Amino acid sequence: MKTRSLAFSLLFPFVLLTAGSDSHAQDQQTQDGVKVGEMSMFRKLAPAGALENQAALQYNQTMQQAEKQHALGPDNHPQVIRLRAIANKLIPYTLRWNERSKQWKWEINLVGSKQINAYCMPGGKIAFYTGILDTLKLTDDEVAIVMGHEIAHALREHGAERAGKSMVANMGVKLAELVAGAKGYDPNVVGSVASGAANLGMLKFSRDDETEADVVGLDIAARAGYDPRAGIALWQKMGMVNKGAPPQWLSTHPAGTDRIAEIRRHLPEVMPLYAHAKGVDLATIPAYQTNVKNIAPVNYSAR
Ligand SMILES: [Zn+2]
Repeated sequence: MKTRSLAFSLLFPFVLLTAGSDSHAQDQQTQDGVKVGEMSMFRKLAPAGALENQAALQYNQTMQQAEKQHALGPDNHPQVIRLRAIANKLIPYTLRWNERSKQWKWEINLVGSKQINAYCMPGGKIAFYTGILDTLKLTDDEVAIVMGHEIAHALREHGAERAGKSMVANMGVKLAELVAGAKGYDPNVVGSVASGAANLGMLKFSRDDETEADVVGLDIAARAGYDPRAGIALWQKMGMVNKGAPPQWLSTHPAGTDRIAEIRRHLPEVMPLYAHAKGVDLATIPAYQTNVKNIAPVNYSAR
């Protein structure tokens, strides 16, 4: 029995890396706009459905707690209406990134908290904290950039990837047995998915995942008619508030100093999508001007 387990554990990484080329129809559909690599194989260890169910439970609990504390934005709150309107414009452009999103029961809520935070759990459960809207004075374009980024984490299954990686790290041989024996599904796996990602709204992602979420988020926002250049102003605003206490959102979203440069690098791919969505000529689009005086207008000139 021991030697069998060992054999499985030695085999396992090989199986993991070669288990199909994972060619997603949605990757092939992405003929224009941004390009990203294939999704991490690690995410396959955490069954998407199980993770989405777990996220829905956690999300409901969090929103119920917020409601008890009179901190859940009511349906008729202007900011709730605004967030949901922006989400409704973004959601049609999520399908090209993950076909599962067709069945997601999207929820968008506002939590009354000074924390500068926002997240989208697996399965499309979105929360914005009043702190991120108020402190950063987010424009609609900037809300769309934050929301697009968070949605992109869910679409690219970064939570499942993280859960999968921590399962491999924590379980080793035991996991190899499960995968070999249980055809990818076992209630114990579901349990470890939950513990591998204790709070699905507060995951800290890798730099690579952050870059990917930025890029995919820009694509979604641009197609929905939101200015991708707002991403540059957003990170400038983040930098300004970060000089005080570090906002929650920055602690779960490691910020590289090159983040703005990365967004700028992808503008040639997403600005045409934005111009198309707005029905205007790219060459005539004025600079993006945020609502804070000491942030300069963001220009873009097509090459
Ligand atoms: Zn992120």
